[in-house]
Amino acid sequence: MKKHNFFAGPAVLPEAVKKQAGEAALSLDEMGGLSILEISHRSTFFSDVMEEAQSLVKELLGLGDDFDVMFLTGGASSQFYMVPLNILGSNESAAFVDTGTWSTKAIKEAHRYGNISIIADSKDKNFSYIPKDYDIPTDLRYLHLTSNNTIYGTQLKSLPETNVPIVCDMSSDIFSRKIDPSRYDIIYAGAQKNLGPAGTTIVITRKGILGKTDRDIPTMLDYQTHINKGSMFNTPPVYPVYVCYLTLKWLKELGGVENMAEKNHEKGHLLYDEIDRNPCFEGTVNKEDRSLMNACFLLKDSSKDDIFLKMCDDAGIMGIKGHRSVGGFRASIYNALSKESVQVLVDVMKAFEAKNG
Ligand SMILES: *Cc1c(COP(=O)(O)O)cnc(C)c1O
Repeated sequence: MKKHNFFAGPAVLPEAVKKQAGEAALSLDEMGGLSILEISHRSTFFSDVMEEAQSLVKELLGLGDDFDVMFLTGGASSQFYMVPLNILGSNESAAFVDTGTWSTKAIKEAHRYGNISIIADSKDKNFSYIPKDYDIPTDLRYLHLTSNNTIYGTQLKSLPETNVPIVCDMSSDIFSRKIDPSRYDIIYAGAQKNLGPAGTTIVITRKGILGKTDRDIPTMLDYQTHINKGSMFNTPPVYPVYVCYLTLKWLKELGGVENMAEKNHEKGHLLYDEIDRNPCFEGTVNKEDRSLMNACFLLKDSSKDDIFLKMCDDAGIMGIKGHRSVGGFRASIYNALSKESVQVLVDVMKAFEAKNG
């Protein structure tokens, strides 16, 4: 039976990408039949992949030459400390908007490096909305935002008005929509939500922001090290970067992030319309803040959760169980998930209503 992958991360990848990645794991024509798993990262084949992957990131996000793109290891979680370590002087200030688990973790790490303030949060309602209309100090080195809250299912629909540079964790919605690069000093994203397998993290930095703290930064933790060497200072995660490269090409061939944004809107509407229509279910998130990547919803009668999960399982739907901090269900509907898969879920919700409503 066809499976429908609604897992939050590592997550669904395009069929065409999996096929190519699988073939490359066996043998690459360009490398005389060697596998991508066993070739040197210094080979022309791979250094071309790395360079092209970086330029595709720039092209797809509309980044100019004023940005550098890195493929690093250590996950988005390592950026929680690498960002302040690299750009926040010990007497400087950074502000955070706390919209859930990931930003909470970013705040905890940043505290080690400078003056950290939390200028808004949505803790009072279990992070079910995006705070708005908060005051932003003007003397900040940066404002840290999380564009999509993977666990709670909220998404930032517009950036707050400020001249302060923004640092953004885009792990779970990068390449899902257009962004305005002029607003950002740093963007980072673990690959395993919307781009590739686990093992690499994209970090985008604005030129000219590094080397300004008085800190002695360990070589491997210094962004400048990796920028200078094109993300090849040490052995990069060759296979994850290769799969990201394949997904980036797939994105471009499909018409880039504008086209993805349109598809994501269609998928999101299909699912949220059913959540709102179906009397058995309810969404957990403030409507205007609903994520187009992770849709969280509950059964009004939670004693029937297992019945619904069993019906999903029978339809080939995987990864639909909600995160323990929200409960209920979470459908992650990233770029690579087809509208047909969302339709299968909607059909199961309708069938549930017919039997149990
Ligand atoms: C998954 C996730 C992270 C953590 O990513 P790792 O690569 O596992 O460290 C951070 N931020 C957001 C928004 C995420 O969804």
